Amino acid sequence: VIEIRDLHKSYGALEVLKGVSVRADRGKVISLIGSSGSGKSTLLRCCNLLEDSQKGEILFNGEAVKWAGEGLGRHPADRAQVTRIRTNLSMVFQQFNLWAHMTILQNVMECPVTVLKRDPKEVAVLARQLLDKVGIGDKADNWPAQLSGGQQQRAAIARALCMQPEALLFDEPTSALDPELQQEVVKVIKDLANEHRTMIIVTHDMRLAADVSDHVIFLHQGRIEEEGPPETLFGTPKSERLKQFLSASV
Ligand code: ATP
Ligand code: MG
Repeated sequence: VIEIRDLHKSYGALEVLKGVSVRADRGKVISLIGSSGSGKSTLLRCCNLLEDSQKGEILFNGEAVKWAGEGLGRHPADRAQVTRIRTNLSMVFQQFNLWAHMTILQNVMECPVTVLKRDPKEVAVLARQLLDKVGIGDKADNWPAQLSGGQQQRAAIARALCMQPEALLFDEPTSALDPELQQEVVKVIKDLANEHRTMIIVTHDMRLAADVSDHVIFLHQGRIEEEGPPETLFGTPKSERLKQFLSASV
């Protein structure tokens, strides 16, 4: 679904991604792990073109992103293509980012109705199904502030699913939550993995990464230091940096 080839990304003089390649095939779950500042969020944001990048290719279903300009001035050339890619890669953030002035149902319905111009009646049916699926069907008419953190994050996942995207991108979906609330969200992510949703998950939760991933990538200072199936990466890590990172994470 999504493929990144030799991506380079700088913020001014600071090179944050130094040639990273990632592929998420249909139905696969990829986890990105690594210490703070290693470039995980930046990589995720590059995937759905929320960030420009200076070098390398991004492909969506085999279709290469078209670029204009060069170096720090490089940016996507085709707005319609950006919209197509972005609406097909729904993002879930650490801080949920629900719209406070809309009910939970309105939050879930907003983008399909306004961006995709879908029929509000049909979207409402789907939105309620998705809220049921993530276990908060009874909260549809509440305001975000009336929900617990775990419930808000599950609403954010329902909102992402309501776009019927080809893939879901998660940026530390459980990091803002207390441990008990994390488990509610982990369960939803596991259900999605069992349904063979394509997902890229940035996480500090090594158990989540081990449980749901087909492939785990350890980023270190903007490069892939080690990658492989979770059994290998967590069971027999080769790189000293990864060993250190894992021993510090438990
Ligand atoms: P964390 O685990 O703390 O979320 P991360 O791996 O997600 O870290 P990134 O957020 O991708 O790391 O940041 C990578 C580097 O890029 C960091 O050095 C950060 O300070 C820098 N950076 C991120 N966003 C910007 C920005 N908008 N402008 C300048 N520098 C930035
Ligand atoms: Mg981050």
